[in-house]
Amino acid sequence: MIIIMKNNATKEQVAHVVKKIKEAGLDVNVDQGSEHVVIGVKGDTRKIATDGFNAYEGVERSVKISKSYKLTSREFHPQDTVVDVDGVKIGDGSFVTMAGPCSIEGLAQIRETARMAKVGGAQILRGGAFKPRTSPYAFQGLEEEGLKYIRQAADELDMKVITEVMDESHIEMVAAYSDILQIGARNMQNYKLLQAVGKTGKPIGLKRGISGTIDEWLNAAEYIAVQDKSPVIFIERGIRTYEPMTRNTFDLSAVPLIKKLSHFPIIVDPSHGTGVWDLVAPMARAGVAAGADGMIVEIHPDPANAWSDGQQSLNEKTYLKMMQEVDILVDAMKKIKQIEA
Ligand code: PEP
Ligand code: MN
Repeated sequence: MIIIMKNNATKEQVAHVVKKIKEAGLDVNVDQGSEHVVIGVKGDTRKIATDGFNAYEGVERSVKISKSYKLTSREFHPQDTVVDVDGVKIGDGSFVTMAGPCSIEGLAQIRETARMAKVGGAQILRGGAFKPRTSPYAFQGLEEEGLKYIRQAADELDMKVITEVMDESHIEMVAAYSDILQIGARNMQNYKLLQAVGKTGKPIGLKRGISGTIDEWLNAAEYIAVQDKSPVIFIERGIRTYEPMTRNTFDLSAVPLIKKLSHFPIIVDPSHGTGVWDLVAPMARAGVAAGADGMIVEIHPDPANAWSDGQQSLNEKTYLKMMQEVDILVDAMKKIKQIEA
């Protein structure tokens, strides 16, 4: 349930409603919207009569949200949430690129990749130090050593860092080096991990599960949102279908759909979405056109010798070309958004 306060409601009226909700044994999340304060009621609201709250002073109306996710929903927060990654804004109408290798392989490699990423216009450096690999014999990541390297490479170029955290026991360590914590597709429904990263206050890049439905993905975000600390950035990375020619089936309709259902930003991952390097640029362009707030893309100075995901990584030339094309479309999208407004 959400309680929408009148736009002239006083602080005391808001506090009174909050008190009444707490007396009913429920918890709240107060959202200071640009026009109205919206009070989200957390917990089992089935036994609460919605109408009861309408009688309190300052309340405009209360609405039961029948969806299983609430704080993530547009109803709760009608305006777009802008995620501030230490100064880099995601969801403010701009298009933010996160680029880097699948795996951090060493200091020289991540430095060189960061240089390429920056030249193309990326503001955030990606790179895995904890790698979820299908085979237990495949390279599993440089762990803390890799985290040190990516932080150093990013700092040298004034970039931000996104990297994956796979395990609750590593959250503190990864958070010490990274600006965004990435939850990988394989962990989208690792609810304990979601709850724990949600307590860090760092933005969470939440990949869509390999077979995750939109509804499951939104509920996964809710596990983070309900902790009341960390904003979510959805990352569409394709889903498993019967089609073997691409690694995944890139679901671009997720972009406008998530935007309709949630206030959190969504970015696209055309690298894992296709798994084939020469399909990455067309799908990145399509991501811009679909209205994504940014993208995360795998690049490597020498894709043929990458330790993971070389087949879907762009080299400097193909990456820079893609970024030029993306820039053209970002400008075109600004005009389209003006028509829509
Ligand atoms: C990655 O970003 O390298 C990765 C492992 O992605 P996903 O979790 O989407 O498979
Ligand atoms: Mn990868």
